[in-house]
Amino acid sequence: MYWEKDVETMNRENLAVLQLERLQKTIGQAANSFYYDKLFKEIGLKTEDVRSLAGLDKIPPTTKEDLREHWPYGFLATSRDELVRMHSSSGTTGRATVIFHTAGDINEWTNLLSRCMYMTGMRKSDVFQNMMTYGLFTGGLGFHYGAERIGALVIPAGAGNSKRQIQLLKDFETTVIHIIPSYALHLSTVFEELQIDPKDTNIRMAYVGAEPHSEKMRQKIEDIYGFKAYNSYGLSEMNGPGVAFECTCQNGLHIWEDNFLVEVLDPVTMKPLPDGEEGELVLTTLAREGMPIIRYRTKDLTRILPGDCPCGRTHRRIERIKGRTDDMLILKGVNIFPIQIEKKLMEIPGVGKNFLIILDREGYNDHMTIKVEVERQFFDGDLKHLEQLRRKIVEGLKSDILITPKVDLVDPDSLPQSEGKAKRVIDNRKD
Ligand code: ADP
Ligand code: ZN
Repeated sequence: MYWEKDVETMNRENLAVLQLERLQKTIGQAANSFYYDKLFKEIGLKTEDVRSLAGLDKIPPTTKEDLREHWPYGFLATSRDELVRMHSSSGTTGRATVIFHTAGDINEWTNLLSRCMYMTGMRKSDVFQNMMTYGLFTGGLGFHYGAERIGALVIPAGAGNSKRQIQLLKDFETTVIHIIPSYALHLSTVFEELQIDPKDTNIRMAYVGAEPHSEKMRQKIEDIYGFKAYNSYGLSEMNGPGVAFECTCQNGLHIWEDNFLVEVLDPVTMKPLPDGEEGELVLTTLAREGMPIIRYRTKDLTRILPGDCPCGRTHRRIERIKGRTDDMLILKGVNIFPIQIEKKLMEIPGVGKNFLIILDREGYNDHMTIKVEVERQFFDGDLKHLEQLRRKIVEGLKSDILITPKVDLVDPDSLPQSEGKAKRVIDNRKD
């Protein structure tokens, strides 16, 4: 049941001792980089000054902008000879950032992914089809190495090319897949097109991640395919996937605290929040040589879930990510996260598999239009049905997000589909 029982179930006191030891080592290692050497000198920090985990707040957080400004080697903490791999972020919010790994780093990262997948029940006998982009994006090679280490047969299918994916799934009797949630819904429309029932495969579980998705969206994916979908969270700056992952309890994601020091801070004041309160996740690498990062501001919003997990793992759980602080839309003074809209839409029967939020400004007025794909059976020629559905969506959203959007119903599979992370919002407002 456990990949590494002693680490996964380590008691909290021992875990804290391990963390402090690794933190001190990390700070010493980070001081070899141009960026942290300069920062530590500026704030007058000596490695020995960090005597407790709480002492970490002497160090100001590192941001994506810091990484961008010190492109490409400003954070490198080893000689270039030690490096064996580089990856980069997807560039969702601007210029991509780059991360370097030593052989030791790849080994640690691989181990984390094996731990995650083993936790959900992946074994040697599984056939694992990885439908993520290979290359600089971390979701391809990261999972690939982890599954190989478990001993599964890995099919490095890569992203997109849906008909081929389905062919591979059938021919090689794939049992586990890794897929972006929005793509999982899109792929089901290709199954329909091919007149194959998505339940009629050997797939028993999927790892879904890389983009925010609601519990309702997970349920929809599970219902369509008849498999279990486990949430996988990570970011390239912290290796990529393998940072936090759901166990079979599917109740929050265990964040691997032997590898990452976790803080949840108020995104405005940067003050720590008590467990259970939602804030920005700030992470410190605890086992990285090539490019240690201290107090990285992920911009991702979540909270620590209180209580122990029945699975026996002691690493705390975070709630599914609500979105990035950058994702928050402000419309007529109301703050809205796209995931709130997604959640409502996925609750309404008849709503299809994709949607797009468009924001426009006319004079001083902002407007939100939501294009919503409708299930094929709703296009039965009866306009009354469509109008009823449209009203239901408007009313549902109005009571949830306190804004009355304009809703346009569109044909199934007619909105733009991305092979990578879905683009949910087009903001045409000019400041
Ligand atoms: P970029 O930051 O350019 O998108 P990454 O590929 O490193 O590049 O993406 C990491 C980000 O993706 C995370 O910080 C988070 O915002 C998002 N993400 C990853 N996994 C999940 C998940 N399971 N749920 C929600 N968001 C996720
Ligand atoms: Zn658990």
